[in-house]
Amino acid sequence: MSLSFDPDSLALPMGHFIGDRLVAAEGVIAMHRPSDGKAYADCPVADADLVDQAVQTAKTALKQSNWGGVRPRERLKVLHRWADLIERDAVELAKLEAVSSTRPVGHLVEGDIAVSAEQIRFFAEFADKEGGDLVPTDDGNLGMIMTEPYGVVGAITPWNFPINMAVWKLGPALAAGNAVVLKPSEMTPFSTIRLAELAVRAGIPAGLINIVLGDGMTTGNAITGHPDIAKISFTGSTRAGSAIMENIARTGIKPMTLELGGKSPQLVFADADIDRAAAAVATSITSNAGQACVAGSRLIVEKSVAAPLIAAILKKMEGIVPGPTWDAASQYSPIISDRQRQRIGDIVAASVAAGAQCLTGGRPMDAPGYFYSPTLLTGVDQTSPAVIEEIFGPVLTLQTFEDEEEAMILADHPSYGLAAGLFTSDLSRAIRLTRRLQAGTIWVNRYGRSRDHILPTGGYKQSGIGKDLGREAFHANRKSKSVLIGL
Ligand code: NAD
Repeated sequence: MSLSFDPDSLALPMGHFIGDRLVAAEGVIAMHRPSDGKAYADCPVADADLVDQAVQTAKTALKQSNWGGVRPRERLKVLHRWADLIERDAVELAKLEAVSSTRPVGHLVEGDIAVSAEQIRFFAEFADKEGGDLVPTDDGNLGMIMTEPYGVVGAITPWNFPINMAVWKLGPALAAGNAVVLKPSEMTPFSTIRLAELAVRAGIPAGLINIVLGDGMTTGNAITGHPDIAKISFTGSTRAGSAIMENIARTGIKPMTLELGGKSPQLVFADADIDRAAAAVATSITSNAGQACVAGSRLIVEKSVAAPLIAAILKKMEGIVPGPTWDAASQYSPIISDRQRQRIGDIVAASVAAGAQCLTGGRPMDAPGYFYSPTLLTGVDQTSPAVIEEIFGPVLTLQTFEDEEEAMILADHPSYGLAAGLFTSDLSRAIRLTRRLQAGTIWVNRYGRSRDHILPTGGYKQSGIGKDLGREAFHANRKSKSVLIGL
């Protein structure tokens, strides 16, 4: 069966999902399809009253279902059933994701959606295995660390991997016994709404997952400032992360996990497998058209192998063909919006004005929608806008080094530290430099995540606070209480 579909014939679930049903609301934000630019829907904006309704629904559901207090294996079983339904409905979910986002439908069923179901199963398994601790004390006391769910967790997700980002928040929060009020991006709400509907069908008590639609200023602020939301889990830009910290500080203190932006370097040494490095570098900056937090957007290569590496990367970049996300054969994604494509062009132009040369790309592609050509900029230094700014597009900068020390200086970014790639056949160097690189994830002789969900992900510096995935994400959704019993 072909996955290709007609975007105009797809029935789109639209509205806030509160309790067990969609609540219709007036559309406010015009939505445009990235693949053809067509205005096709209007996203509603939940105000503070509606967010409060979602929070009260979550609190009531927690109380009535005793979700945090049931036998942990019951939580585990129902989360597995949710994953079953996601796998069963993967094709429909893929279409709902592809229509509004930059994710090609051909990448979704076996990619993002299969991974999301797997990650729900991964987190489900913590429910009856991870708990508190008994700690050493003297004979006169018994000391223990008890852990408990927070209650209602507020989650806010970006548009670049909509369903997967929602699962990164919902999976650990639910497995740990919480309820969630989640706001997806106003540009890509559909697959998240369907995810919540499937959760109820799987037997997750209605009201434990509530989806409120809207923008950051109105809906996002209402979530982060709500007094009954006990913890915030956010993925998005560093700018929005900073605004969220400010709002939380203003409205009351609460813990938060922030997964923010990046400007990740990829270092290639002369002793590396150059073909392998070229493939990894080109894929990382063209996959989802560079719209990934961990996109390896700064190529830093040892001078003696720069020429063959550049030639191999250019060949891959120039062979790329744009195609709409609803065509199963499409490999290259559009940019999410016209505005974002304009911003990419502005940063490239400012970098060229500051001395950069464009080896390929540097312009919108000749196709409907918001496609931008894979771009390679050389002649940049540490002050170039293309080296400093998170472009969130298919723009790769190229810098060369003579030795390890220079490579380390170039790799260091003043504010970001999300990920870094290192290509070398020298094991000692790989370990030495892994220790020095200031980033939350280091990939050696590969670039990008595997399906080892036990590896946490998160940033150093202003790329974030706390971790998603891994054991850490489960524990971040429970608070701990120290108990000392005098015997
Ligand atoms: P964004 O920050 O503009 O928006 C993200 C979400 O936050 C959206 O739902 C938006 O409506 C909401 N929001 C915006 N301002 C807000 C505010 N003041 N208060 C509350 N909510 C607010 O980001 P985006 O353009 O959707 O996504 C791209 C960004 O996300 C990039 O910077 C990328 O690096 C980052 N990202 C990070 C990770 C990670 O794991 N570190 C993963 C994916 C994306």
